[in-house]
Amino acid sequence: MARLDKIYLGTNTKMFKTIGNTKEFLTELNRLTSDISREEMQLFVIPSYTALSHARAVVSTEEIMLGAQNMNWAEEGQFTGEISPLMLSEIGIDIVMIGHSERRHVFGEQDREENLKAKSALDHGFTALLCIGETEEQKENGISDEILRIQLKCGLKDVAPGQAGKLWVAYEPVWAIGVNGKPATAEYAEEKHLVIKKCLTEIFGEEIGADLPVLYGGSVNNKNAAELIVQEHIDGLFIGRSAWDAENFNSIIRLVLPLFSQKKTGREG
Ligand code: PEP
Repeated sequence: MARLDKIYLGTNTKMFKTIGNTKEFLTELNRLTSDISREEMQLFVIPSYTALSHARAVVSTEEIMLGAQNMNWAEEGQFTGEISPLMLSEIGIDIVMIGHSERRHVFGEQDREENLKAKSALDHGFTALLCIGETEEQKENGISDEILRIQLKCGLKDVAPGQAGKLWVAYEPVWAIGVNGKPATAEYAEEKHLVIKKCLTEIFGEEIGADLPVLYGGSVNNKNAAELIVQEHIDGLFIGRSAWDAENFNSIIRLVLPLFSQKKTGREG
């Protein structure tokens, strides 16, 4: 299986930061990480819709990629309250997050909708970040692998291998996310990342599937980030609460970067 050269580190700020907070956070994060080569690290932030154009004015894609937390698949239409790919293109953002656990489990989104969004995001030139993960009940029933495979196969149905170059996947077990979540152990996360990587190679073939970044998310913090990133099939971390303070995010970045480099060197050697 091919391995990725750079680490992927990002955060989704959910419905927490105002425009002012977002600008402040991005400016500080960019300043703190300005000495780190972006060849080594793909840094990204996914703020609220209202902050996106202000955020774009503060950081470039080369410094910090910016993403939207959701997107409707249609370019326009009678869909009150929705945001279209054309509207996001106009702002100049880079990533569209699709199927975050809260979209699926609070707002009832289904794989069919995630699939329409993924295809539309890729068709419009965005990086599509597809989030998948099993619930606690599904885990207890021993069907986590099946759920992950269904979410991938249905969510990525009819995505052409030629478009998959701009696809990222985040594995975020529902039971691990947010204030009531308990982080997955590194061993459990690694086991599921392997299931995901194998499924991606089934869908897109060995060459493309194995090169797609798969990030772990769900209560990542300063204590567990190291043991997660050293796992063979974890290409990056998608962090919520622990990354919303730029200094703390920077300290996690500094902790995992050398570990990721060692992992890379170990593979090459
Ligand atoms: C998330 O909601 O995607 C997430 C990873 O949150 P947290 O790190 O706060 O669990």
